[in-house]
Amino acid sequence: MGHRQLALMDFKDPEPGADSVVIEIKASGFCGSDLHHYRGARGESLRVKSPEFLRERGISFDDPIIAGHEPCGIVAEIGKNVDPRAFAKGDRVMVYHYDGCRYCDQCRTGWVQMCERGSTVYGQTAHGGHAHYMVAPAKSLIHLPSEISFAAGAAVSCGTGTAFAALERLDVSGRDTLAVFGLGPVGLSAIQLAKAMGVRTVAVDVSAERVARALSFGATAAFDSSQSDPVEAIMQWSGGKGVSTAIDCAGVAAARHAAVRSTSTWGRIAFVGVGGNVSFDVTADLILRQRTVIGHLTFSDVAMARCVRFVADHGIDLDQQFSERWKLEDAVRAYQEFDKQTSGKAVFEF
Ligand SMILES: [Zn+2]
Ligand SMILES: [Zn+2]
Repeated sequence: MGHRQLALMDFKDPEPGADSVVIEIKASGFCGSDLHHYRGARGESLRVKSPEFLRERGISFDDPIIAGHEPCGIVAEIGKNVDPRAFAKGDRVMVYHYDGCRYCDQCRTGWVQMCERGSTVYGQTAHGGHAHYMVAPAKSLIHLPSEISFAAGAAVSCGTGTAFAALERLDVSGRDTLAVFGLGPVGLSAIQLAKAMGVRTVAVDVSAERVARALSFGATAAFDSSQSDPVEAIMQWSGGKGVSTAIDCAGVAAARHAAVRSTSTWGRIAFVGVGGNVSFDVTADLILRQRTVIGHLTFSDVAMARCVRFVADHGIDLDQQFSERWKLEDAVRAYQEFDKQTSGKAVFEF
């Protein structure tokens, strides 16, 4: 509802369209980006969309939207055009939480959130996963391997998928070192995934508690940037050279700056954390150091499928990210607690 209000409402159970499925939700994760909608004015995030975008999709600011963009569950019903060899009743699935026009270059390459005609985001501009049932296009489903829990599947559906795709874009390998700034679910995922890729990692956050957690998630080294200069610490750790890659998951200027300056000559840096701004000495920090900085938003549908396969094959324990597991009935309290941002990741389980 916005302004830190939320309501539990009854909705009619959804029915599948010809090309869609109904999912019986088993887990639906909370994401830091939910807090923009929770804390702000109702529909604030939708106002950036054009009036045509909203009209085409039948969205009105007066309609309530079911939140939750990390849905995971079991196929309960399938539409008449859905190939049962692809998805059948009872399949364990995750939902890639975007839909688009399905025909533009971005949609055709799986980057549906970049749809040239504007994307639908489940949990924001269409009903999401904080409910017993959810309807989604069959093309947005990805099979959940049997060894992965529903909660872990929810994590892959946003935070872990984002970290995985950013590491793919940075092209990290066992030859690299990686500095991770901001140790929320995306940063911790980056540490877990990078470790499995053979990468030595150094974790940085302003919270001593999060720094300690990162070590238990497999970081090679970790520094509390509220106590000392992380760039100096990383330089020392790397024998004065700097790390070959860095990722900023904090979305604050100080962390972005440190991420760039902690890399070596030819360093590659990904900005993943959203919000705020930063300025650089382009000549000294970028040109004269041959550094590459990329902006990175979430992941493609095929990257999400690669991510969950990687997590399964390497036995990565994403369940340890969840410090809070809630029932839907406790949603008001659950979001009040989540709003404090003092613990790990949270999820509704059904
Ligand atoms: Zn998210
Ligand atoms: Zn498109």
